[in-house]
Amino acid sequence: MRKFVYHFNEGSKEMKYLLGGKGANLAEMTNIGLPVPPGFTITTEACKDYNDHNQILSDDIYAEMMTHLQILEQETGKKFGDATNPLLISVRSGAPFSMPGMMDTILNLGLNDLSVQGLENATNDARSSYDCYRRFIQMFGDVVYNIPSYRFEQALTDLKNENDYTLDTQLTATDLQKLINTYKDLYISVSGREFPQNPFEQLRLSITAVFDSWENPRAAIYRRLHHIDNQLGTAVNIQSMVFGNTGESSGTGIAFTRNPSTGENLFFGEYLLNAQGEDVVAGIRTPEPISHLEDTMPEVYQKLLDVAALLELHYLDMQDIEFTIEKGELFVLQTRTGKRTAQAAINIAVDLVHEGKLSKEDAIMRIDTSQIDQLLHPSFDEASLKATTSLATGLPASPGAATGQIYFNAEDAVLAAERGEKAILVRNETSPEDIEGMAKSVAILTAHGGMTSHAAVVARGMGKCCVAGCDAIAIDESQKTLQTATFTLTEGDFLSLNGSTGKVYLGQIPLVESEIGGHFEELMSWVNEAKKLVVRVNADSPNDLEVGVHFGAEGVGLCRTEHMFFQDDRITYVRQMIIAETLEERLIALAHLKEMQKADFAGIFRVANGKPVNIRLLDPPLHEFLPKTTQDIEKLAGELGKPVVELKQRVQDLGETNPMLGHRGCRLAITFPEIYIMQAEAIMESAIQIHDEGIAVFPEIMVPLVSSKEEIAIIKKQLKEAIQTIFRREQLVLPFDIGTMIEIPRACVTADEIAEEAQFFSFGTNDLTQLTFGFSRDDANKFLYAYQEQKILPIDPFQSIDQKGVGALVTTAVQRGRMTNPALKMGVCGEHGGDPASIHFFHKLGLQYVSCSPYRIPIARIAAAQASILEERQEKVMV
Ligand code: PEP
Ligand code: MG
Repeated sequence: MRKFVYHFNEGSKEMKYLLGGKGANLAEMTNIGLPVPPGFTITTEACKDYNDHNQILSDDIYAEMMTHLQILEQETGKKFGDATNPLLISVRSGAPFSMPGMMDTILNLGLNDLSVQGLENATNDARSSYDCYRRFIQMFGDVVYNIPSYRFEQALTDLKNENDYTLDTQLTATDLQKLINTYKDLYISVSGREFPQNPFEQLRLSITAVFDSWENPRAAIYRRLHHIDNQLGTAVNIQSMVFGNTGESSGTGIAFTRNPSTGENLFFGEYLLNAQGEDVVAGIRTPEPISHLEDTMPEVYQKLLDVAALLELHYLDMQDIEFTIEKGELFVLQTRTGKRTAQAAINIAVDLVHEGKLSKEDAIMRIDTSQIDQLLHPSFDEASLKATTSLATGLPASPGAATGQIYFNAEDAVLAAERGEKAILVRNETSPEDIEGMAKSVAILTAHGGMTSHAAVVARGMGKCCVAGCDAIAIDESQKTLQTATFTLTEGDFLSLNGSTGKVYLGQIPLVESEIGGHFEELMSWVNEAKKLVVRVNADSPNDLEVGVHFGAEGVGLCRTEHMFFQDDRITYVRQMIIAETLEERLIALAHLKEMQKADFAGIFRVANGKPVNIRLLDPPLHEFLPKTTQDIEKLAGELGKPVVELKQRVQDLGETNPMLGHRGCRLAITFPEIYIMQAEAIMESAIQIHDEGIAVFPEIMVPLVSSKEEIAIIKKQLKEAIQTIFRREQLVLPFDIGTMIEIPRACVTADEIAEEAQFFSFGTNDLTQLTFGFSRDDANKFLYAYQEQKILPIDPFQSIDQKGVGALVTTAVQRGRMTNPALKMGVCGEHGGDPASIHFFHKLGLQYVSCSPYRIPIARIAAAQASILEERQEKVMV
């Protein structure tokens, strides 16, 4: 018979797919002797079984669960639903990958009108017993019967107001009993059902509710955002309760073994006394920093430090630990690898190497490339910042600077982002329902909550600027206003936030690009040792190249020269070149353009300083450069002294039904060879100029959109002749290569022939994807979302290479190219050159380089190193 339930002492950390991350770690901690309250885990396989059987929990699974419940009763010496000494349990979700707050949790299960008295007898504490009961009724109502939490919160606030209380802890046992009756009435009025008194019914309903929560919309969105497989399912952890709400020697908290914002090796965390479960993350009361625990409960603090040290050493990574103190006794309820900012991730990984706990390769493998973007986030322009005074200060929950317009709920923030605005989501506290609004906003500001509140944890994971717990502002979410002592702001007003300092500023502050600090350079030096792929930059200007080189680019993989043709000072000459009716006329225009292009290329060669520079000759259809409106045509006709009618006709003649498949790329050079010849001359003449300045140059001249050997043969011959003429004239010969883009399926399957003419291949995977699927790269977003939803495609193939189809063509081209020339230089310059999954694929193909936009260079370098480490490790396993 299949086993669906594991007691904590039966599992281990390796079993996370079966027991979920939380269950696997509870098992591991139990086995290494940490103070974990006993319990058991119902597996993710049970969740799949439940989903496969129309959301029905099978009798076999229920029976197996009951056996474990009986063992738990023996372990604790308590009885479930007992009127004298009841066993109370928590029921918590736990998926294989951490999805903080996305699914459901129920605490204090097993309480009813009778067992609450049993609890009171056993603990001699009426107040905390009724507090547990009211919390249970609230959580159960929310999770199982979908009674909105705010209805319960409102009842609680009303009762506090009636009594002039400010804190929940001021509620007496009698107040809480009254509140419980109000809660029970809410069940009937909102859900039409009574609160179930039978603990076994409570348990069955809670287990199925947790399984159901795997499918709730916020969990589904989270999985989509984090690329988590929908099929994994969640486990359910059932654990005997310990109580942090039993007075001032009790409490609950969350601790990180190192600082999750900076990575500093300092114990970090927060706690609340006389509180339970979600109170710290829910942000309802502002928690105390963990260091205060050292003053109030030094022994517990020392124990917690010992547990933290042991867990970090055991998992060899920074841990996020959830703990409860019950009447001075410490219990550990969860450990997991802590979410951290990108800067912290790098600092922690490098520190662990320095501490002798990790190898350099392991440190590189620890880096989540999707997080690296965070490091490249902008900060405020210093001068503008000095001229601004801050409006309020909250907690620096997630670093980075942002400026945008404020919105008071997730839906409004999403709509604003879809309108193209930069939205800042402003909330009293965020909850998991806000996930999409958080993802679409540039920053998050909350009035309540601490450094481990939902807003803080989720924003850090997303790499999004967040200021939390900013209690100097009053937010009215229904009126959509934000008030400080001096200002009232409404929806759409501008704010600026600094998530590194917690400061909030009125209005917009200009942003400047980031500087990477900490151990980044050291890590990247290890990355360079480990990677085999060269990483180049796609740069159309010296400025792009400077940024690229700053991030470690080892050359230019693609310079799209058409971007230079669009500039204001040259567009008239470009147009003159296009509409020229004779060769002489065209050559006059080209002569002007040549001088301008020479200056462009010289600037790039100077910055490249000897690194290879791949310059692609003109690619788009000529008519793209021509004016479109009658007004613009009339203006150009005036400038060029041509009749308007004639010019209109020329524009019409050049127009194409399907320009993407039309007269572009090397086809232009087949009809107008003088264009590419001019560009090749500009490249070599500027190369000679830079060489004469004492700077090494190595140009690669790239011909786009080649589909046959004959095209490249004809063009190459013309270019070579022009270049030889220059060399003869200048009495100098410089090294250079002429090669081709491989971006047409026919080029892939005839690559052996093309390699006879091309000195290099650069895969243009954007066009190759477009032409392989027949999906327009400019319009595919209109339907690709549906392809992903219906699982026709796992991911947008324009973002990450479609290995099966497009990848197979690339593979063919690589093999055929090598058949002709084993040393053929090959790289990728399409967008996929900056995508980690695609980089792994290109590494396996043995390409020499990938090329991507400047800000993706660090990601590409790390991904390239990870691909090569992974390969070496797999090879070792094979041996
Ligand atoms: C490509 O097609 O992948 C490419 C790099 O060229 P472009 O995007 O300019 O068409
Ligand atoms: Mg292309």
